[in-house]
Amino acid sequence: MHRFFVDAGVIRGDEVELGGAQARQIASVLRLGAGDEVTLLADGKEHVVALAMVTAARVSGRVRQTRAASGEPRVPITLGLPLLRGDHSEEVIEAVTQLGVSRIAPFFSARSVLRALPDAKRRRWERIAREAAETARRGRVPEIEPARTWDQLLAALHAPVLVAWEREAGMRVRYAIAANVTTLAVIVGPEGGLTEDEIVQARKRGAVTVSLGARNLRSETAAVAFVSLVVDALG
Ligand code: SAH
Repeated sequence: MHRFFVDAGVIRGDEVELGGAQARQIASVLRLGAGDEVTLLADGKEHVVALAMVTAARVSGRVRQTRAASGEPRVPITLGLPLLRGDHSEEVIEAVTQLGVSRIAPFFSARSVLRALPDAKRRRWERIAREAAETARRGRVPEIEPARTWDQLLAALHAPVLVAWEREAGMRVRYAIAANVTTLAVIVGPEGGLTEDEIVQARKRGAVTVSLGARNLRSETAAVAFVSLVVDALG
């Protein structure tokens, strides 16, 4: 069944009305019609909706069933994502959204090449996250926040915070996560890595550095590996 994230206002009681791009997609791209069912996701709930009237301008239907959305990890995961050159940030957003991240906090630090996130780019990232969340059957679309400095990032993340650091030898991801955590934030550094000062600063705020193994990974590989390890460790 096709799944769409919708604004909560789209569902009023058991009546549903969609317009805009979603109506167009249902009518013209997917060619669904009266009697077909779709799943609409809003506010962490999934609603199975039987379509009643379908035109490219307006789709209406009736809610048949509502349940809590499945497809969410037990603990909300935030990723501190460096602004990366080329399309690398987008690749990371697509992959970590599928893996289950619920908040993406972009940042730039001392060795970052890119130091700004234009609004148009952030909106493109939001679209990528929405599509990846639909594909992966997530219950929520991750939020993409405005870009921050290293300092601002550390202030904005709730503990516990894990920082991937290639010079950390001992601490493995699975040992750095307490059994009873209720949120988790993970950070990877930009292409040029994090500075010693930045690591000191992060530790002062209680962050823990972790190793992703003895290889030197690119930021985008490190981000995806880190999130997979965390999702697996959280169970
Ligand atoms: N300082 C490195 C580049 C850093 S790699 C250099 O220029 O040679 C980019 C980021 O990926 C790092 O900041 C770190 O967060 C993460 N990373 C890469 N390999 C890692 C590893 N083996 N363990 C932990 N983090 C790693």
